[in-house]
Amino acid sequence: MGFSHIRAQEAAHAVLENALTHDKLAQAYLFVGPSGVGKQSTALSLARARLCEVRPGEGCGSCEVEKRIDDGTHPDVRIFTPRDEGNRNLQVEFVREELLPLTKFAPFEARATFLIFPEADVSFPVQHAESANALLKTLEEPRPAVHFLLLSERPDRLLPTIRSRCQRVRFSPLPADVLEDILAAHDVPAESRAPAIALCGGRADRALELAEEDLAVRMLDVAVAVDRAVGERKGGTLLELCESLARDEHRDIALESLSLYYRDVAAAALEVPDEQLAFRHRAELIRERARTLAPAVAAERVAAIAELGEALERNANPQVALEGLFFGMS
Ligand SMILES: [Zn+2]
Repeated sequence: MGFSHIRAQEAAHAVLENALTHDKLAQAYLFVGPSGVGKQSTALSLARARLCEVRPGEGCGSCEVEKRIDDGTHPDVRIFTPRDEGNRNLQVEFVREELLPLTKFAPFEARATFLIFPEADVSFPVQHAESANALLKTLEEPRPAVHFLLLSERPDRLLPTIRSRCQRVRFSPLPADVLEDILAAHDVPAESRAPAIALCGGRADRALELAEEDLAVRMLDVAVAVDRAVGERKGGTLLELCESLARDEHRDIALESLSLYYRDVAAAALEVPDEQLAFRHRAELIRERARTLAPAVAAERVAAIAELGEALERNANPQVALEGLFFGMS
């Protein structure tokens, strides 16, 4: 069993397999990488491999212990997701009342306990120092056989003191061929796969979301509409696009799409082959635009979109920031 069913994370799995083989699992790991690339599956497989009695250190894939881990009913393998409300951070009372006692008395029946924290940076963000410090306290008083698995896309949002207590394991974005297989396995039609893969950033969860709603196709349409309005200097249309994008729940994907569109246009102008374009399924459209837009201008726009993304991260007003971008391009 092991980790062989999780694809394209050989480096991460080699670290963990080595620790399992030598019975030297760290007390705390920080799995770093985008969502939807196998961090949580790896965490569960690690627990299964460690707790399986049939094939210890590897997991047999079919015993009672592993079945209970998969069902979420094993008392020694617990998953703590962020709350569903507010800022979603876990509160200090939760850490003191639920987590600390658990770490004192575990393991309950197995040889080890695994406490898994998907989106650890959301549960314990640096700005809610009280609960983050309570978690840190449990990490600083290691109990044998209690393992913490912190999963995070944004480890910079965790306390540095928490990060430094954990052994870091890196997970990579998934390559296009693996994503293609995953989408095919979910019955996504062939023509919807390429645009979803172009925009998903190597994340299977996002690729599925993009493909299932045909969102990727719509996002390229938005990019083309923005580009046209900029080219024709249609102020009114640009303002409307700013307004709707500022409110769009898929705004980040739309901006990513716009950035990839201009990157493709610059690449096409430099005669890069179609198969290297993100929007290769619309290569004709991209090539046509490349005949009228200088690659240097397209590249400037890619840079401007990246700057906008950083401004939005710093909580800039989306509408104002988008207007700055769109009118700056025209
Ligand atoms: Zn087993």
